Formats: sequence, structure tokens, C-alpha cells
Amino acid sequence: MSPSLWSSAATVAVLALAGLQFPPAAAGASVGSVSPPPSGACAGKFAFESAELTDAALADIGAKDSTNAPLLSFGDDISDSDSDSDSAARPPSGPACKVFPGDAAWPSTQAWNLFNTSLGGALIKTVPLAAPCYDNWPQVRNAAQCQYVTDHWADPHLHVGDPSSTQWPLFEGRTCLPTDDPTQNCTLGGYAAYSVAVTKVSQIQLALNFARNTNVRLVVKNTGHDFADKSIGAGALSIWTHKLKDLNFFSDYRCKGYKGPAFQLGAGVETEEVYRAAELSGVTAVGGECRTVGIAGGYIAGGGHSPMSTLVGMGADQVISLQVVLPNGKLVTASEDSYPDLYWALRGGGGSTYGVVTSVVVKAYPKIPVTTMTFSFLTGPNVTLDTFWAGVGAYMSHFDRFTSAGAYGYFLVVGIGPGQYLFNFMPFWGGNMTAPQLTTLVAPFLGDLAGLGIAVTPNITEYSSYYQAFNGSFGPEQVGASVGHAGSRLFPRDNFAVPAKRAATLAAVRYAIEAGGTLVGYNIRPAANAAVNQANSVNPAWRDATGFFILGGPSLPVTATDAEIANAAHTMTTDWLKRWRDVSPGSGAYMSEGDINEPDFQQAFYGSYYPRLYALKKKYDPTGLFYAPTAVGSEDWYITGQIPYYPTQNGKLCRKP
Ligand SMILES: Cc1cc2nc3c(=O)[nH]c(=O)nc-3n(C[C@H](O)[C@H](O)[C@H](O)COP(=O)(O)OP(=O)(O)OC[C@H]3O[C@@H](n4cnc5c(N)ncnc54)[C@H](O)[C@@H]3O)c2cc1C
Repeated sequence: MSPSLWSSAATVAVLALAGLQFPPAAAGASVGSVSPPPSGACAGKFAFESAELTDAALADIGAKDSTNAPLLSFGDDISDSDSDSDSAARPPSGPACKVFPGDAAWPSTQAWNLFNTSLGGALIKTVPLAAPCYDNWPQVRNAAQCQYVTDHWADPHLHVGDPSSTQWPLFEGRTCLPTDDPTQNCTLGGYAAYSVAVTKVSQIQLALNFARNTNVRLVVKNTGHDFADKSIGAGALSIWTHKLKDLNFFSDYRCKGYKGPAFQLGAGVETEEVYRAAELSGVTAVGGECRTVGIAGGYIAGGGHSPMSTLVGMGADQVISLQVVLPNGKLVTASEDSYPDLYWALRGGGGSTYGVVTSVVVKAYPKIPVTTMTFSFLTGPNVTLDTFWAGVGAYMSHFDRFTSAGAYGYFLVVGIGPGQYLFNFMPFWGGNMTAPQLTTLVAPFLGDLAGLGIAVTPNITEYSSYYQAFNGSFGPEQVGASVGHAGSRLFPRDNFAVPAKRAATLAAVRYAIEAGGTLVGYNIRPAANAAVNQANSVNPAWRDATGFFILGGPSLPVTATDAEIANAAHTMTTDWLKRWRDVSPGSGAYMSEGDINEPDFQQAFYGSYYPRLYALKKKYDPTGLFYAPTAVGSEDWYITGQIPYYPTQNGKLCRKP
């Protein structure tokens, strides 16, 4: 779910209540027709991954421009057998700051030209998506295009399909939003300076080499969904993975210890694309509830929760192998027996940290029926505020039972007027359940609501497959919010199973919602699954959670000043979310849907794995090529000009002294 839910979720909820469904968006990737690997063999590389940068190609580039060609050369070799034991102590080395446009050290036009030529012309100079609305971009000023961007700004596909845009312009700095006043100024702000529209792996290798050798800031953009805007950065070179749409399905994949169905997914494949491919292939894939999130990018890197999680575990648990270009520019395979430390770190340790993942092989599951339930209840003449919250608490009292049965709940609690509140299922999801089974499962909960005098009208629908249920349940998300800010918390089982802890949790939640926040809740508990490798770096707090709650911060007008945004963020982090942290000590939060201001983000987002993740960061990225806010090792850096609690990406990236 999204920070913009604070403006849109109530609308979505109302539409859902009215029984309206959004049409599913068109899918871009298609199932490749491939010969399965020979029995016992692991998947080969995609064709785009076979087009690797070679020494011969570098020599050809050198013949064209011997002065600048060294800027494209590989970094030092690193082997997975190299120790990471002393690297933890090593500070990041290199110049004080990344070079910035206008700096004397910024690469020359000739250097950029050589780089672009070597890329086959794939370098794109950034034009902000909304630039056609502004007179100060005369070269692209276009009223019709401006109108289109304005009309579609909330549609995630618009931002996914742009090389440098992000779904959340808040941390970009709001420097070029759609406007009907063309006399305002549009600047690049936190957007990258250049992007590489990648279609083959050699372009990723060239981009990493160029950024490392020139000390230009590097970012990786897939869909731009991350709540903390981890895919953007002022003055950066962006690697845009969106076009890597290759997708293969193997009905009987056999690799090392694994035997069963699997997908091989290029880094740009989105959730709705793999779900559609799974439906066509007669299987079920593990992904989230948002159609446009990239599976092989930030989703798996962050852990990845799914309606399937209560049955089979996290998205990252499903990974059999990954192809990844390391910071030194070399492409390697990470799996149980090849770079096993990277295999561990890339499955939960966060995106944009250890390299650029170009593809993954993930386990798929048999087709399953899914039954969903929706209903809502409101405060009103028959439901007092206390009764409303007792109803929410009644649901929480069944969390453990529901997840133990494999159910997943996705729900909203939001203020809809003075003293008025709405609870809405979006939906309650019974994976591998028939309607009678779900009806039996929820009966005690419905009985509790009836006992409280809360009347509900459950709408129970049985679907023949995960994809049918997905299309019947999850519409497109609304994005583009320029003032909304969100955070989250993973609540352990006992927070709901133990009555006193449940009461404290409910009180902390109630406080935040009655103060103006919005709750997007998940009743979810990743299942233990012996059929996959769960020895990975997914935040340990996930393993004991039965509640993952996202909190939307105070609602603000779009005209809010930076100071007002910072003030609202301060309230959310230090008051509302503090109460959530206080009732769940030692637990954590989800890095991919987290508070950019999370105090002690290392503990909250990575838990006890942080020291090992940090040591591996130093081992594989000793010069600090990769940076993203709240990513492993980001505490070694700062961005100039940031204001507390409103940390935009539009300053220079510098090493902490
Ligand atoms: C509306 C909405 C709904 C969501 N629903 C869910 C959900 O159901 N389940 C869930 O688990 N999460 C969900 N999320 C969170 C989502 O998983 C994260 O935002 C995730 O990081 C998005 O990854 P991305 O690659 O699509 O996006 P990006 O923002 O482009 O990338 C996220 C991070 O990963 C890095 N990255 C991207 N690709 C690569 C790559 N190939 N190699 C290395 N680094 C890379 C980026 O640099 C960035 O740091 C949702 C988010 C939103 C906004």
C-alpha cells in the first residue's frame, strides 16, 4: 500500500463498498517459450545477460578515445571466498563527496559522449515528467502532454514507464510537480542527471564502471515504488531496469536440490506480469498486492510480503538463484553454492546495496483456489467509538488463529469525518480455501462482532485461482502524493495473542488513528516452509509477526511548506510510531514500506543481521558505489541541505568525516 492512501484509500474503500472494480492493467512481459534446462541443470542466463562487457569491447572503446576509455574499466576482482571479517572495520574510502553537476570533476562532455556511444545510445538526459507544464522547459513545453501527465499523475504506470520519475515526489523535493501555472520553476531536484535505459547486461556493467571511476552518484530505478524514494538522487547516474522483461517458466525445474515449477524473471518484470504468466502456466507465483512493484528488484531485496506468505513464506524465501552485477562491474551467479554470502544478503538485505540484480529464479506453486471476504463497519448511531475499536480489537484477537489457518487479512482503518471511523477489508484472503472453509474459519469473529452489536454483511467470493482472486480484489494503487508520509511496524504474535498486550497495541493504534493517521493493516505471518531456503537476511522481525501495520501520517494540504511536512513527520515518528515501537520492543519495521526517519533503522529494518550485512557491504562495495536512504551502510553518508525529518534527495551525497 502507499503513502497516498491518506488521500485515496478512503476513496478506494468507498468504491470497493460500492462494488466497483477497476479493470486490470495491461501486462508487458509474456511467458517466454524456452526449452527447459536439461534435467538436473540450473537455468542458463537470459540472452540479455549473455551480452557481457568484454576486455575486447573495452579495447575497442579505447581505440576511439584513449583518454576517457579508462573510465569504463572494471574494478578489482573479488571472490566469494574473500573474507569479510576485517572489512567491517574499514571505513568507506574515497573522495569526500560524489561529484555533482557543475563541479570541476564532473565528467566532460566528451566522457559522457564516449559512455553513451559505448552504451549504444541508451543514455537519457533527465527531463522531469512534469516538465511539459513549465515555461522554463521550452524544449518540451506542451499543454496536451502536461494535461496527460496531470491526469495520470496518480497512476503508478506513468512513473514506472519513465526513466527517472518516482512514485513519491515528496523526497525528490517537489521540484517539478504537475501544475496549471506554467510560470513556476521546474528543476531536476532529486531526480538523477542521466539514466541508462538498460536492455543488456553490458550496459549495467558500463554504467557501474563509469560511476565508480568518475565518482558520480549511482542509483538504481526499477519502478520507483519504495516509500523512502531509494531509487532517485540528485546528480546521479541511474540504472533503469524497467525494460528487462524477460520471463521464462519451467514446469519441472531441477537445479541442485530443487525440483518443481519455477520462474526465471528479468529485473524489470512487475507483479501483475508474473501473476498473469502464472495463470497462463497453471501455477501460482509469490508476489505482493501491488500490481506494478518489481519482483526481482526491491520486492525480493526487501523481503517481500504476499497474500501467499501465510502459506509459503516471504517473497525472498522463494529465490533459488540470482544473477547480479557486482560493484566492480562483474556479473556473477548468487545461489546456495555460488557466492553464498551474497545469496544470503540479496534476499532481504535491501536493494541498491550489493550490486544490480539482473534476474532471479524463483519457486512457483500449484494453482490454488482462493476465497475472499469483504465487509466494512463504521461508527454511527448503533456503533459508538468504543464499540468500533472493540470491533477492531475483536479482529486482532483472531489474528493468530487466522494466520495459522493460512489466511491473510488486508484492511483499512481511517477517519472519514469528525469522530467517524471506517474499518474495511480489502480483502480478507483465504488462500487455498473454499467458501465453506472460510465461512467456518471466520464464524467466531463474526460472532464476536455480532455480540458487540456491530452488524456486517460479509461478501464471500470463491475464485478458481490466485490470479482470479487478485484481479477481483486488488485494483490499481494511487500514487504521486507529494506531501504524504508513511511508516510501519511489525507486531509479534504475542501483541495480539496475549490480552494485555493486545489491549496496549490497540490503544497505540487507536491513538494514532484518532490523531489523524490512517492504518493499512496486514494480518500476516510468513509460514515456515521446508521446501525453500529460508536462511536469508529477511528482517527476523518478520518471522514472529502476525501483524504488519502501515501508518499514514498527518494529512496535509498539497500546499504544505517544507516546515509543515517536517513537523508532521516529526509527530508521526516521535509520537505516533513511538507508541507502536513501545508496545513491540525488540521487533522491527519493513524497510520497503518504512519510515525514512526510522530511529535506529539498522535494528528496525535489519534486526540482528545488520552487522553481517554491513560487513558484506564493505566486502563487495568497498568504495561505496551504492547508496540509498536507510540502506545498509547509508549511515556512513549524508546529503547536503537536508532538513531534519524531511530528508530530500536533492543535495550532494558526501561521506561522513
Ligand atoms: C502501492 C504499493 C504497494 C506495495 N505493496 C507491497 C506488497 O504487497 N508487498 C511488499 O512486500 N511490498 C509492497 N510494496 C513495497 C515494495 O515492495 C517496495 O517499494 C519495493 O522496494 C519496490 O521495488 P521496485 O524494484 O519495484 O521499486 P524501486 O523503488 O525502483 O526500487 C526499490 C529499491 O530497490 C532497488 N532496486 C531496484 N531494482 C534493483 C535491482 N535490479 N538491483 C538492485 N537494486 C534494485 C532500488 O535502487 C531501490 O533502492 C508496495 C509499495 C507500494 C508503493
